[in-house]
Amino acid sequence: MKALSSTKAEIVSPLLQWYDSNARTLPWRENPEPYAVWISEIMLQQTRVEAVIPYFSRWMKALPDLGSLANAPEEEVMKLWEGLGYYSRLRNIHKTAKIVMEKYGGSLPASFEELRSLPGIGEYTAGSVGSIAFQLPVPCVDGNVLRVVTRLTADESDIGAASTKKQLTEWVWEIIPKDRPGDFNQAMMELGAMVCLPNGLPKCEICPVSFFCEARAQSRMTEFPVKGEKPVRRIEKKTVLILLGSAASGITGGIAGGIALRKRTEPGLLSGLWEFPNLSGHHSEEEIRQILVSSGLKLSSLAKLKKAKHIFSHIEWDMIGYLAVVENDTAAEAADDTLTEAAAEAPAQYGSPLPDFHWVGLERLDGQLALPAAFKSYYQVMKHFIEEGVTE
Ligand code: SF4
Repeated sequence: MKALSSTKAEIVSPLLQWYDSNARTLPWRENPEPYAVWISEIMLQQTRVEAVIPYFSRWMKALPDLGSLANAPEEEVMKLWEGLGYYSRLRNIHKTAKIVMEKYGGSLPASFEELRSLPGIGEYTAGSVGSIAFQLPVPCVDGNVLRVVTRLTADESDIGAASTKKQLTEWVWEIIPKDRPGDFNQAMMELGAMVCLPNGLPKCEICPVSFFCEARAQSRMTEFPVKGEKPVRRIEKKTVLILLGSAASGITGGIAGGIALRKRTEPGLLSGLWEFPNLSGHHSEEEIRQILVSSGLKLSSLAKLKKAKHIFSHIEWDMIGYLAVVENDTAAEAADDTLTEAAAEAPAQYGSPLPDFHWVGLERLDGQLALPAAFKSYYQVMKHFIEEGVTE
């Protein structure tokens, strides 16, 4: 790792001064108590700051402390997280809340090692909660910080390699000020988010640590961080079925017979969340018609929908969809909602190859069930159809 004649400790003071004058006002910074810091940090690992703000506010209103989170039903917690993705992180949050209630009397432990030992709290989260909420002199190194440090030092190592991350984390660790560790860590992240930008040219002219920056000295700012080749994503083809129950009287004033939904089985991707029934591969309209009819459904109409795509970290879903209105008296009974325990445990209503599903009212879906972002475009089509009677 290269260095300029200045010592790296010299960046601390100007960085903190810059942070004092430029830090964004964010809801979790107003009262950085451990629970709020923890929740915000996990949310910030999912998406952009602007997108997190409404999620965080909604969450803190519904579950203002660790006790309320520990006691909340899983379905409610999932709904609050709906759209953020990486639901295994959410499950770990819930698990950790219960452990903290039992083992630590309802307060997150003020120790890096103990934080690190809790489900879903890795080195980064233990570092952020530890330094911001408990003033522990430990680093929290996210993608922003990695970028800043590789530029400051013109480090050409592959940023995706664990050894690089370890080395850069140690670099940060050595200069964390003991009196303001949380502010220092946040300042590094803020610098990466606001000044040392990832795409295009960073704003070096306003950077408080440019005097130390090796990449700038060499005019090679955009060459860092160095990224190795990304692993190729696996593409999975799917056919998504939006089945609306018309009941005997047809669709009037909404979907009298409910929406077919199924709960994804554990373990696996998006386990425990709700989804539209779907089949592997892309199926033609005629195939879908036969599948539905042979499953015992009386088809009133069938329309092909636009393609949709959803990208996970290692898989890409390449989806086509159909919207079918089916007559179903059973559906009519469940239409005004009620996904009772009995319904949730009911066996498959229709045989293979159509997956098991339940009829669920729209209100229940909107208010209580978590539908992953992967299905959001088909959800929008369904809503439009319910309101306007057409798919486009
Ligand atoms: Fe980033 Fe430029 Fe500051 Fe270097 S001088 S840390 S490249 S913004």
